[in-house]
Amino acid sequence: MAKIKFHFNPETLSYEQIEHTVLHKLKQVLIHLFSGISLGALFFIVFVSIFDSPEEKQLGLEKSRMQSQYKVLDKQLEELQEVVSDLQERDDNLYRVVFLADPIPYEVRRSTAANAEYYEQLLDMTNSEIVVSTTKKVNELRKQIYIQSKSFDEIVILAKNKEAMLECIPAIQPVLNKDLKQMASGYGWRIDPVYRTRRFHAGMDFAAATGTDIYATGNGTVVTSGWKQGYGNTIEINHGFGYLTLYGHLSAIKCRVGQKVKRGDVIGLVGSTGKSTGPHLHYEVHLRGQVMNPQNYYFLDLTPAEYDRMVQMSENTGMMMD
Ligand SMILES: [Zn+2]
Repeated sequence: MAKIKFHFNPETLSYEQIEHTVLHKLKQVLIHLFSGISLGALFFIVFVSIFDSPEEKQLGLEKSRMQSQYKVLDKQLEELQEVVSDLQERDDNLYRVVFLADPIPYEVRRSTAANAEYYEQLLDMTNSEIVVSTTKKVNELRKQIYIQSKSFDEIVILAKNKEAMLECIPAIQPVLNKDLKQMASGYGWRIDPVYRTRRFHAGMDFAAATGTDIYATGNGTVVTSGWKQGYGNTIEINHGFGYLTLYGHLSAIKCRVGQKVKRGDVIGLVGSTGKSTGPHLHYEVHLRGQVMNPQNYYFLDLTPAEYDRMVQMSENTGMMMD
C-alpha cells in the first residue's frame, strides 16, 4: 500500500493530501535511472584512466624502448660528427694547404637551411623532438660527408697534377744572380725614388746592365707583352694554379701574348723604361690576385744560407728603383 503524504497549506490553514500522478512517478524513476548510469560511467572512466589495458602497457614499453634507442643513436651520431669534423680540419689545414687549394668555407660545409617543411611534418609525430633532432643530425652529416668526399676528389686531381704544378709555380730568380749582387730592393714599405714618399713596393728590384737576359720563372702562358703605365715594357705570365708573374722596365720583349714559355726561357732584356731610376728588373709574384713577396719563390735557386742572406739584404736595402 502506498503511503499517503500531506502538506500544510498556510492559506487554508489545513493539511492537504499530496496527489501522486503517474507522470510524477515516471519522472522519479527516470531521475534515479539517469543518476545511476552517470555514476557507473564516471566509475568506468576513472578506472580506465588509472589502469592501462595490456595493449597499452605493451605500447608504453615499446615507446620507452624506442626513446632509449633514439638516445643511443643520437650519441653515436655525435661521435660520427666528431670524426667528420676532424677530417674537415685535416682537409682544410693540411691536404688543401699542401696543394694550394682554398679551404672550403664553413657555410658551404654546414648549410642545412633547406627542408624546414620536412621537419615540420616530423613534428606532428609522437616523440617528435627526438625524431627531429636525430633526423637533422643525420641530414647534416650526410651533407658534410658529401662535401668532404668532393674535396678529396679535388685533392686526388691536384696530387696527380703535382708534377705539372711544381713546373709552373715561380721558383727561380728572373735574372742570373749567382752571388746575390744584383739585389737592389725587396718587397715592402720603401721610400719612393722619385717622389721621396713612403710607398709599398709590390715586387723585388734586381739591378743589372741594360740588355741582361730575363728568364721566365715557371712554365706558363704570356698574357701581357707591351707597354704598361709606370712599368714601361712589361711581360706578364699566367702560370696556372692561381699564379702570375710580372717583369717590368724591359729594354726589349722577346715573347708575344699567347706564347707558352718554360722555366728558364729568355723572355726579355733588362732596361729602364717607364718610371725607373736606372737599368733594373722589377719582378712581382701574384697568387689569386694578391701580390706576394717574391723572396718566397726562389726555392729551386737558393740554398738555405743564400736564402737567409737574400732576406737580410732585401730587408735592409731601402733604395728601390721602382
Ligand atoms: Zn721595383
